[in-house]
Amino acid sequence: MTHDTNGDTYSSSLEPVIRLAGLDRVYHLAGENIHAVNNVTLDVWPNQMTAIVGRSGSGKTTLLNLIAGLDTPTDGDVWLLGRNLAQMDERERLNLRLYHLGFIFQSFGLMPLLTARENVGVPLRMRGVAPAEREGHIDEALEWVGLSDRAHHRPYELSGGEQQRVAIARALAENPQLVLADEPTGQLDTRTGRRILNLLRRLVEERGVTLLVVTHDPQVMAEADVVHEMEDGMLVDTRIKEGIAVPGM
Ligand code: ADP
Ligand code: MG
Repeated sequence: MTHDTNGDTYSSSLEPVIRLAGLDRVYHLAGENIHAVNNVTLDVWPNQMTAIVGRSGSGKTTLLNLIAGLDTPTDGDVWLLGRNLAQMDERERLNLRLYHLGFIFQSFGLMPLLTARENVGVPLRMRGVAPAEREGHIDEALEWVGLSDRAHHRPYELSGGEQQRVAIARALAENPQLVLADEPTGQLDTRTGRRILNLLRRLVEERGVTLLVVTHDPQVMAEADVVHEMEDGMLVDTRIKEGIAVPGM
């Protein structure tokens, strides 16, 4: 437990955004058990960039799906924004995702027939945000990622880096507390990846977002405040950047 100079614990004033306790996910496939996530316990703290790293098949995507409430653990608990997912019904989990989470994917996840601005507006439409308010959020988010002049382009008229910036704008427009990103630079060259990484860092610094990013990109690992390494479903190492305070460690 980390103490400040008054002897108080940080955790009294600061709660983790994500808390995983003894998390297991076992898949049963053709009579075989695959332990995709094996007894993972970790906390993700607010206003930090946390990375989950590990080779392909180590359980990273499974872990993200469990955190997002898109998959159900075989054992253990996920606490998201202070709430135990197992004690919420499907509707409550859906609302938690819709109102508090943003998602960024390796393959951008944009709708091919919609323009950049229509793509950014999708989650706001799902929330039922009124058109005038929606347009304001969309404009602001596109400007923030530097794509105001591409607002009416469709994904196939945009480069990979620009498509990922649209996806970041879509997450940002939701004003999320937590953004989950699965290999956000995985399909981009090193320079474009660096630009996307800078934008992700700015999400944390300027917008107060907590970012959890699954990656095997060395640039992202070097940038992250906290790096958790997975191997065969297990958490095998945690590295904290110098100067970063993490409660309890
Ligand atoms: P990563 O994202 O680190 O590449 P995954 O979480 O996708 O790893 O997969 C972890 C392990 O779980 C792999 O062995 C994978 O084959 C297995 N797995 C993932 N999803 C399923 C599923 N729906 N059914 C069966 N096995 C799965
Ligand atoms: Mg994966």
